[in-house]
Parts: sequence; C-alpha cells; structure tokens
Amino acid sequence: MDDVIEAAEGGATKPAGEDFSPTARTTLRRLPKRGSFERETVNAILDEGFVCHVGFVMDGQPFVIPTAYGRKDDVLYIHGARASRMQKALAAGADVCVTVTLVDGLVLARSAFHHSINYRSVVVFGRARAVESEDEKTAALEAFTEHVMPGRWADVRWPTAQELAATTVLAIQLSEASAKVRTGPPIDDEEDYELAVWAGVLPLGVESGEPEADPRLPAETPLPAYIEQFDLTERH
Ligand SMILES: Cc1cc2nc3c(=O)[nH]c(=O)nc-3n(C[C@H](O)[C@H](O)[C@H](O)COP(=O)(O)OP(=O)(O)OC[C@H]3O[C@@H](n4cnc5c(N)ncnc54)[C@H](O)[C@@H]3O)c2cc1C
Repeated sequence: MDDVIEAAEGGATKPAGEDFSPTARTTLRRLPKRGSFERETVNAILDEGFVCHVGFVMDGQPFVIPTAYGRKDDVLYIHGARASRMQKALAAGADVCVTVTLVDGLVLARSAFHHSINYRSVVVFGRARAVESEDEKTAALEAFTEHVMPGRWADVRWPTAQELAATTVLAIQLSEASAKVRTGPPIDDEEDYELAVWAGVLPLGVESGEPEADPRLPAETPLPAYIEQFDLTERH
C-alpha cells in the first residue's frame, strides 16, 4: 500500500459554491496529482457515498465514529439521538474532520510494495452547527433521507414534533475540503514488468441485493419503483 496514507493540518476556508482552495490542512503533500479541490468532484464523491467517518476530540481523547450523512448544496447533514456523545460534542462546537471513502478496486502489482487501492475519497474540515428550528430540521432530515434513498421522503410518515425534539441534526458547511482519487493499473518498477506474475486491477463495488420485505408488511403492499430500480452504480 504505497500511496494511500496522507496527512493534513489547520488553515483558512472558502466561500460556498466555488471550488475549494487548498489550505494548510487540505494541501496534499503525498501524490498531489491525485488531489482535487473542484467542488464538482467533491460533491460527486459525497453523493455516491452515504457513510462517513466523523473525527473529533473530546476531553483529549480522539474519536472516529461511522455515521450516515446527507448532502444538500454546500452543507453536509448528520443526525442522531440528542443523548449521543458525538452529537453533544459536535453541537458544542468541537472541531470536526469528516471523511468519505469509496473503494473502486484492488490494485495488484508485480511487487508487494506497489500494491494499492483504486479509491475516491473526501476529507472535510470544519465545525458543526446544531440545526434548531423545526422547519430547518425537517428540511435537513428530508435531505438526509433523500440522499440515502431518493424518493423515500414522499412515501414515509414525517417526524413528529416530539421526534424532532429527540433528534439532534448537525450541519457542517462544506467550505474546507479536498478530494483524492486513484484510478488505473498498478505502477511497477520498470525492471519488474518482466516478472511472470499476474498484475492488474480487481474491481470492487457496493451492490444492492433483492429487497427483503418486512415480515409484518401486508402482502399487497407494492414495492416502490425507487427501491426496485435502486442502482448504486447510477450514482457513479
Ligand atoms: C453505517 C452506519 C450508519 C450509522 N448511522 C448513524 C446515524 O445516522 N445516526 C447516529 O446517531 N448513529 C449512526 N450510527 C451509529 C454511530 O456509529 C454511533 O454508534 C452513534 O452515533 C452513537 O455515537 P456515540 O459517540 O454517542 O456513541 P457512544 O455510545 O457514546 O460510544 C461509546 C463507545 O462505543 C463504541 N462505539 C460507538 N459506536 C460504534 C460503532 N458504530 N461501531 C463500533 N463501536 C462503536 C466506541 O468504542 C465508542 O467510543 C451509524 C453506524 C454505522 C456503522
């Protein structure tokens, strides 16, 4: 795994809507040619994924917690129970680092050293804002639900005032972010191309399976088209 470990540290941010500017924290030091600060590239990766890892420090202890997310325009939304430690820490204004990783393939080189992974990933820095008003919370939860399963919000019962009160919704402005992408075959040392060992890429992806109806679902309930036709590769 010669080229998948990177680092970043603190810096300024970019206004919403425009491409990102590299900051001290998002400047790619290792293989910068694989980096991108285009908002379109960052958004495309965020829109294909739906699990992020949220990193924050609480009482000197770093935590990295996996969670679902949704993007709407220049905002990333995460949500959880009001009692959650992560939600409390972030709502209190902790610095946060959110990553999203899509794995596209195993890159199998002729040498152990040059093995790698084809991937698309995003790193976002910022602080979360707790969404307080019922209207914005509902809109955020709609964005979150539609991000994960487009078409779902129109079908389901919407949150009650009580459910909204029990839920923390956090908004993270997408103003300081970077993308990094590796594609293509292995890159071996020139002399190793003569070795009689198979080399190439084993593509990997996430696929949806056959929908499994809830045992308590009345048999006559139709399967919505947006579930039947759900195709993760279309997000690509
Ligand atoms: C794919 C996915 C999607 C999720 N989506 C959401 C979401 O939308 N909203 C939400 O609130 N939560 C979600 N979760 C659960 C989330 O990871 C946390 O468990 C939850 O948010 C509680 O966080 P906390 O810091 O309050 O946990 P705490 O219970 O305070 O954590 C205490 C300790 O429990 C362990 N722990 C907590 N979570 C995990 C975990 N996921 N895996 C292994 N160990 C763990 C860690 O050691 C942690 O330090 C999701 C998890 C996954 C894997």
